[in-house]
Amino acid sequence: MEAQRVFQPIDLLIQARDLHYTYPDGTPGLRGVSFTLHRDEAVALLGANGSGKTTFLLHLVGLLQGQGKIVICGEVLGKKNLEFARRKIGVLFQDSDDQLFMPTVAEDVAFGALNMGLDEPDVRQRVEKSLRLVGMQDAAARPPYHLSAGEKRRVALAGVLAMDPEIIVLDEPATFLDPPSRSALIEILRGLPQAKVIITHDLELARCLATRAVFFEQGRIALDGALEAIIKRFEWDTSAPRRQSERAAS
Ligand code: ADP
Repeated sequence: MEAQRVFQPIDLLIQARDLHYTYPDGTPGLRGVSFTLHRDEAVALLGANGSGKTTFLLHLVGLLQGQGKIVICGEVLGKKNLEFARRKIGVLFQDSDDQLFMPTVAEDVAFGALNMGLDEPDVRQRVEKSLRLVGMQDAAARPPYHLSAGEKRRVALAGVLAMDPEIIVLDEPATFLDPPSRSALIEILRGLPQAKVIITHDLELARCLATRAVFFEQGRIALDGALEAIIKRFEWDTSAPRRQSERAAS
């Protein structure tokens, strides 16, 4: 059966309705998640460890399927059109080493685009453009395992960009990066035109990138709205332990 096409405004890129998922061992992953992402939005997914953010992300790219409905760029996500969804949504994983495995940077960046069946001259152009976008054009011939963590993250991002997705999903994009590499990555991400979904505990990064936020709690979205309102409502940056200097003063 052909994937069902549904009418929707052109700028609604993701519409997830009432997603439920239970892991095979009986652990509830999602308990009724509804979510939308429009063009030009960057939405931060906040929430405690184990609240369902990753489970939700895995549903968006079709790696997990439970109850409920997901519409990606106008197509209802189902077993038959996972390829379509994976072209529309690029994922930058937390650990770049999972994403880089070819002998050279250029081959790594080309891998996903070649798998989409594009011809080589087109892929070559995309690789050059993507490497320029992330400032790694001089590293094309280097082996990825010689790169620093920040460089690896940028190369992995170039691989995502070479597939020309409409949406980029970022899972803790700045972990393991030193402050200058983190700032450089945030600047690059800020300049990208794609809509973004960003799983993060890094509030400064969220403040730099997000136009909206949702807060996950026990497999549900407890609140959807402005980032600062959500941080305040859940006291999400005031629960830090006391610093050494504060302890000494008291
Ligand atoms: P988050 O990304 O917010 O940290 P997860 O989506 O990873 O949360 O987890 C949501 C819930 O699903 C948690 O209770 C977690 O223990 C559980 N969970 C995640 N992965 C698995 C798995 N492979 N098998 C069983 N339970 C899992």
